[in-house]
Amino acid sequence: MAFEGLTNRLQNVFGKLRGKGKVSEDDVNEAMREVRLALLEADVNFKVVKDFIAKVKERAIGQETMKSFTPGMVIIDIVNKELTELMGGTQSKLAKSNKPPTVILMAGLQGAGKTTSSGKLAKMLLKDNHRPLLVACDIYRPAAIKQLQVLGEQIGAPVFTLGDQTSPVDIARSGLQHAKENGNDYVIIDTAGRLHIDEALMEELRQIHDVAKPDEVLLVVDAMTGQEAVNVAESFHGQLELTGVVLTKLDGDTRGGAALSVKAVTGCPIKFAATGEKIEPLEPFHPERMASRILGMGDMLSLIEKAQSSIDADKAAEMERKMRTAEFTFEDFLEQMEQVRKLGPIDQLMDMLPGMGKMKDMKNMKVDEKQITRVEAIVKSMTKDEKRKPEILNHSRRKRIATGSGTSVAEVNRLIKQFDDMRKMMKQFSSMMGPKGPKGGMK
Ligand code: GDP
Repeated sequence: MAFEGLTNRLQNVFGKLRGKGKVSEDDVNEAMREVRLALLEADVNFKVVKDFIAKVKERAIGQETMKSFTPGMVIIDIVNKELTELMGGTQSKLAKSNKPPTVILMAGLQGAGKTTSSGKLAKMLLKDNHRPLLVACDIYRPAAIKQLQVLGEQIGAPVFTLGDQTSPVDIARSGLQHAKENGNDYVIIDTAGRLHIDEALMEELRQIHDVAKPDEVLLVVDAMTGQEAVNVAESFHGQLELTGVVLTKLDGDTRGGAALSVKAVTGCPIKFAATGEKIEPLEPFHPERMASRILGMGDMLSLIEKAQSSIDADKAAEMERKMRTAEFTFEDFLEQMEQVRKLGPIDQLMDMLPGMGKMKDMKNMKVDEKQITRVEAIVKSMTKDEKRKPEILNHSRRKRIATGSGTSVAEVNRLIKQFDDMRKMMKQFSSMMGPKGPKGGMK
């Protein structure tokens, strides 16, 4: 997964600081030296690193940090905020024209993921009840039009094409007309890429730009190419006014430097991040979430959003109430396991949870269906009373449950232990969250 190396290194640096009651200027300098190396190793642009370190240092060596009771935490917070700032501060939303259709021009080098991202963008818009039209302006790459048509069919979005014998400028013009006549509120123009930036490509893009007058010019860059992605963005931006960047292939083992440098170098925000070959809706890029993910603080907000879309809200609210009032029973435990399974592959979820990046064993854990069935059998062998009051589960009861469920006492013990731990964690959580949510300032 992207950023893994960077996250691990930063966690080591901060691990050292966190435990300290007092942090000296030397400690800060040493930590910043390590952060600097970690960023450079992650392929972040060296000028960006230099500015970043200077800013963090200035704030960290300030009065408040040194006086704070938890200086280590204050420094992590500063780094988190500066990382967020580096990536643009707040989420940069997709433009919306007040005279529809909103026109989006997709540009980029060949293989960056332009066509795939166009499809993902259309899928995202469809999900939000829009009516996107995909326009096929790549007449050079063999099969590019076909690729877009297949994509469109797959996701249920119309594709406008005039074949490969008409000029891209005419296709764009006609595509727009078609959208107006057919009530499409978004037009996504997929343009031709090249292996390298060349004048002919730029000229064609400029001509399409003149005709289509896009509200949004999105440059698609491949995160795996690291600094090269940043250079490409800089060149494009110099010639064509970009409004945003789509960073693809963040699922690969990219070191992440591009995500951290693009905005700082080009001034152009990353609007979307793509993480896979499968056509899923494109994900808006959230600098603050990405920063906390990089710092290994997890991506709790994305996780919560994901949960919201796949978990029954009423059930979740009831579950939450039970957790707070410690009414949580073994039956609820089972139900929750089912809900979590709905969220998707556990290794992906792990990446979003704080501190999990470091727990390699857990990351490699696969949800074992058989295991879940066994847990289910154990819980089902309990009496109602036992499910509600696990504390009455003495040895003879455990033995009976093991026999009844066809498992072993050791397994029953393990499950009860897990359940106890979970309850303890909930207690901690609910006291931390208070009755009305997180205590001040937590993100
Ligand atoms: P284009 O030439 O810029 O239109 O690029 P394509 O959309 O054809 O994509 C080039 C290759 O990259 C294809 O094999 C895609 O499946 C793959 N690809 C695109 N986006 C992603 C992504 O986010 N992650 C991964 N792993 N592969 C991607």
